[in-house]
Amino acid sequence: MEIQIRDLKEGKTGFDFGKQRSEILEIRKKSGIVVKEFEVRGFITKSRLEYFLKLNVKTKVNLECARCLERFNRTFEEKGEYYIKIGRDRLLKKRDVEIQEDDINTIYLNEPVLNLVPLVRELILLALPMKPLCQENCRGLCPVCGKNRNTEKCDCEMEIKTPLSALKKMLKKEER
Ligand SMILES: [Zn+2]
Ligand SMILES: [Zn+2]
Repeated sequence: MEIQIRDLKEGKTGFDFGKQRSEILEIRKKSGIVVKEFEVRGFITKSRLEYFLKLNVKTKVNLECARCLERFNRTFEEKGEYYIKIGRDRLLKKRDVEIQEDDINTIYLNEPVLNLVPLVRELILLALPMKPLCQENCRGLCPVCGKNRNTEKCDCEMEIKTPLSALKKMLKKEER
């Protein structure tokens, strides 16, 4: 996933890397994350002064639910926008500094070759939730017997409910 920057014509050049082997990203089984597949699309706009890159990453990831610990697949999509500058010495030119915008990343390349792998890796990590849930209202594991409460019922649940229902009864009595 490399783009030869110097070979680009002025104006907009689109690219589509399609489905890629997830191994090249090296985000394997790190904190339970397994990237199954990903697709990269985007474009580079070349003008006289600079390059502008827009990236779109779509990925299917296998995650572990933070509540019930079951594994599940989910698709994420994330976009990134960057300015690309070649050669570090350009940093010192006043004009370049003025062009820089705070909310858009600027990439400085020593060679006119843009490797998309680190950018794609960053976008995928950005798209992932801090606390992944297999479903929004996942009921998690029973704190007593450890059974998955989404799929199994256990007696402990009754015990947990008992003090609450006793409290309700007490409150009802007080109302009378
Ligand atoms: Zn869950
Ligand atoms: Zn239980």
